[in-house]
Amino acid sequence: MSNKPVIVIGAGIVGASTALWLQRFGHEVILIDKGAPGMGASYGNAGLIAQWGFMPVTTPGLWRKLPGYLLNPNSPLFMKWGYFPKLIPWLTRFLSHATDAETRRIVGALLPLVGDAVSDHKALVQGTGLEQWIADSKLGYAYTSRKAFDADGYGWAMKRAAGFAPTVLTGAEVREEEPILGEDFQCLAVLEGQGHVLHPGQYVAALVDHVTDRGGRFVQAEVKGFQREQGRITRVETDQGNFDCHAAVVTSGIWSKEMMRMLGLKVQLETERGYHVLFENPSELPRNPMMISTGAFGVTPMSDGLRCAGTVELGDHHAGPSDGPIKLIRREAKRAFPRLSYSGTQEWMGFRPSTPDSLPLIGQIGDSGIYTGFGHQHLGLTAGPRTGQLLAQMIGGSAPNLDLAPYDPTRYLR
Ligand SMILES: Cc1cc2nc3c(=O)[nH]c(=O)nc-3n(C[C@H](O)[C@H](O)[C@H](O)COP(=O)(O)OP(=O)(O)OC[C@H]3O[C@@H](n4cnc5c(N)ncnc54)[C@H](O)[C@@H]3O)c2cc1C
Repeated sequence: MSNKPVIVIGAGIVGASTALWLQRFGHEVILIDKGAPGMGASYGNAGLIAQWGFMPVTTPGLWRKLPGYLLNPNSPLFMKWGYFPKLIPWLTRFLSHATDAETRRIVGALLPLVGDAVSDHKALVQGTGLEQWIADSKLGYAYTSRKAFDADGYGWAMKRAAGFAPTVLTGAEVREEEPILGEDFQCLAVLEGQGHVLHPGQYVAALVDHVTDRGGRFVQAEVKGFQREQGRITRVETDQGNFDCHAAVVTSGIWSKEMMRMLGLKVQLETERGYHVLFENPSELPRNPMMISTGAFGVTPMSDGLRCAGTVELGDHHAGPSDGPIKLIRREAKRAFPRLSYSGTQEWMGFRPSTPDSLPLIGQIGDSGIYTGFGHQHLGLTAGPRTGQLLAQMIGGSAPNLDLAPYDPTRYLR
């Protein structure tokens, strides 16, 4: 093993998990982030360990339905139209995956990353004293009617085939299971044996503290460039100085796009912007996390309140937040929880890093010593620990017991 460290760039859930697994495998680790740990997309997500969340957005025929979604003000899909021309190459490729064959291929490739994610999180925190951040829970998928649930039959058939068979409750049974739900919701599909994180941002920060307590380094600095000798990484340049390394891992979420550009590579990565509204001191809480189908957001009881997080807004990661998604979340939350009162609310926007085929880039770029761990779209919190373990295995020279071809980091690089 080299006596130089491995540098991990980006202290979100993927970077924190990678750093911890690298350290467990005996590597010296430097984790670099331009901000505080856990403040990127990993901060404000819905906190769902979405073992069941492997259906890509690109379900068959999406290209036919997309214009309708975008023109419907009640749809949870939004577009920053000013960015549309720049999005066209990514969007064209994204929509090319909206076929039955591609959906099945993507589901097959996502399952090994997310299908056992509650155990993956538990393995990550084992012996760290951070076990309390992971909650065992059920997941309820709330629909207005049994008909609306049946209309989602394609996705549920795939979930069933993967071992995620719901108990479908209707009418009064819905409120016996979740008394908080309003009468507009007459169907609840419940999955047992799931889990969630009680505060994703604080969880990631605690993971990073654990790494530094055990001798790893966290450096708050902005990465500005890379030095290579004979094609191999030797040094990472930052605004706080340069750091020698024998390998570097890019786990910078949406900003991995800029990181690849510094390496002279262009990657097809765009953001599906998402939003949350946190209801502080809520008068009631759901018993378990839920997905609210009418707003495409997750609802999770968290340590600081009731968080409703989701929606998709296609756009860029430099523009500020829009009103539409927040209004939709507020409106649909009121419909789902008509009796809810609270002392105040917080709003947040974050950037899901998404590839056209909904699969992350995990692996080494050629023989450069530069590894990628980004592009986890809606599933980064879920798949972060498994991704970190895979990367640590690869960097340590052991072959993971998994077909890594679908995550080939060079497939979108030019
Ligand atoms: C509304 C919403 C709800 C979601 N809900 C869920 C959910 O319930 N379950 C789930 O699994 N996923 C969910 N996701 C997706 C999940 O949040 C992301 O996939 C995940 O957080 C991505 O993690 P990451 O570590 O790749 O990136 P990030 O958390 O974004 O971390 C990247 C880090 O890189 C750092 N960085 C960037 N540039 C530089 C630089 N030049 N130098 C140094 N550091 C740099 C940033 O500061 C940042 O800390 C949701 C996302 C959103 C937006």
